[in-house]
Amino acid sequence: MSNYNRFAIKMGLVVTPPKEKKPIPKAKIKKETKKRAKLNRQYRKEVKKAAEESNLCEVNSPECTGIMEGMNHIQKRSAKNLLVKKNLTRSCNACNGYIERHPKWAKDNGHFISKFKDLENTIIATPKEDGVILIEKA
Ligand SMILES: [Zn+2]
Repeated sequence: MSNYNRFAIKMGLVVTPPKEKKPIPKAKIKKETKKRAKLNRQYRKEVKKAAEESNLCEVNSPECTGIMEGMNHIQKRSAKNLLVKKNLTRSCNACNGYIERHPKWAKDNGHFISKFKDLENTIIATPKEDGVILIEKA
């Protein structure tokens, strides 16, 4: 109630006080669409499954801690490639950060390819495979 309304009531200028307005509840904005939420649930399941198979980091950057904490998306994650197994490698958080900060190293070691490249037709060899790291089809 405004000061004027209080004043008007006190002075007998208004008989009934005006109704207090209810505050309008803030609209909740969803963080993700239903479709994306479903995809993310599937993704978390895949990560859990991968962690059960092996919990060793596959990136082995100079800052590696050795234990997987999540997945690295060789091609930056998008709805299209979120669940593509070929695009995922087990990674510790230190390695994930290292990849972000050292794109050339990541590219040279098979941990990063441009999102404009065709993932299906790119052969991504893990560094374990005798020196052959990244071969891109012409
Ligand atoms: Zn690592």
